[in-house]
Amino acid sequence: MRIERLVLRGFRNYAETEVRFAPETNVISGENAQGKTNLLEAVYLLSGGKSFRTRFDRELIGFEKDSAELEAEIFAQERQQSLRILMRRGQAKQVWKNRVRQKSGELSEALKAVLFSPDDLNLIREGPAARRRLMDLAICQLRPGYAALLSDYRRVYENKTRLLRDYRNDPHLEDTFDAFSDTMARLSAKLIRYRASFARRLGEAASPIHREFTAGGGEERLEVRYRTVSTVTDCTASEQTIYGKILEHQRAHRQAEIASGSCLTGAHKDDLEIDINARPARSFASQGQTRTAALSIKLAEREIFLQETGEYPILLLDDVLSELDTRRQEFVLNRIGGGQTLITCCEDEQIAGRTGGRVLFIRNGALAEKPDGEENNHVSASGKQRAGS
Ligand code: ATP
Ligand code: MG
Repeated sequence: MRIERLVLRGFRNYAETEVRFAPETNVISGENAQGKTNLLEAVYLLSGGKSFRTRFDRELIGFEKDSAELEAEIFAQERQQSLRILMRRGQAKQVWKNRVRQKSGELSEALKAVLFSPDDLNLIREGPAARRRLMDLAICQLRPGYAALLSDYRRVYENKTRLLRDYRNDPHLEDTFDAFSDTMARLSAKLIRYRASFARRLGEAASPIHREFTAGGGEERLEVRYRTVSTVTDCTASEQTIYGKILEHQRAHRQAEIASGSCLTGAHKDDLEIDINARPARSFASQGQTRTAALSIKLAEREIFLQETGEYPILLLDDVLSELDTRRQEFVLNRIGGGQTLITCCEDEQIAGRTGGRVLFIRNGALAEKPDGEENNHVSASGKQRAGS
């Protein structure tokens, strides 16, 4: 699948810009704060209605603008399709696929993207939130109902946390407390089943990639395991069984929840345990080892999308290559064939030449001519004549 053309209007620092992408590698080059990540964010937004940087649509609308709009022509499921997103201040965003209104989560049925940023290189060392986020962003695109489930869970979690704070002064809130706990257990059971299945597939895909990556110099064994509420010993059990197990944990921790004023049972504490050669990577792996393992996991994510849909998702590499040594850069670049890739890098980096891809220069939220004044082929910015047209 690929994005062929994108028009951004009032989106972040893009007033009105049209971009045409090459089917394989596109290098998005420019100085700091010109709009490179914003462009990747726009493509990511089209792949499931979610940003990887914010939960709030209002932040995506250009300063001093009332609305933001993205229009894309894509090639996916062996046909041309069109996607459109309209965000207006104070309103829920509106989404169209092939000119028919859709729910925003449904966008991922047409377009899927995997993002890889320098933060992901710290995936293993960071706290569990980073690993939950990895799972959640991917599953949101793979399973259309997941995003809604996640936001329902977040809402009830926030409500219960607030209630726990007030509870000590107002014990009448007990019934509400129990109702929230029950909803959290039900939603957790659903989330756990999705996440456990994703984590299993992630481990299966990451392990051979990591073996290949480390072959030659002390081949390493990478394992990924899903960790959730301790009473849930079988994540493949039915939703009802998992729900029962969560209730068990909740009952055992009821007093502790009240005493600590925080939610102690549920999917919000999930994590991925990552081992290298049978030892927890988070505690024992070197910095280089954890980076390599993170790379294997992110590349595995792309393979899962391929298995699911028969097409590679769009791969968005935000500044990640400049963070890697040459050997790791080569490994990534050799592995990204077969699909479309958008790579951001700073103007002075040599990456553009090494990828052999099309280079798009971004300056101040618009496509710019090449720095040496040469025509910037294949691209056009609003108000400028398109090269070759
Ligand atoms: P870097 O190389 O530093 O990562 P970048 O080219 O990736 O830079 P972006 O993150 O795309 O930069 O941001 C470009 C500019 O867009 C920044 O100056 C940022 O402040 C600005 N910006 C962010 N949100 C909005 C918004 N809602 N409206 C207008 N401008 C915005
Ligand atoms: Mg950036």
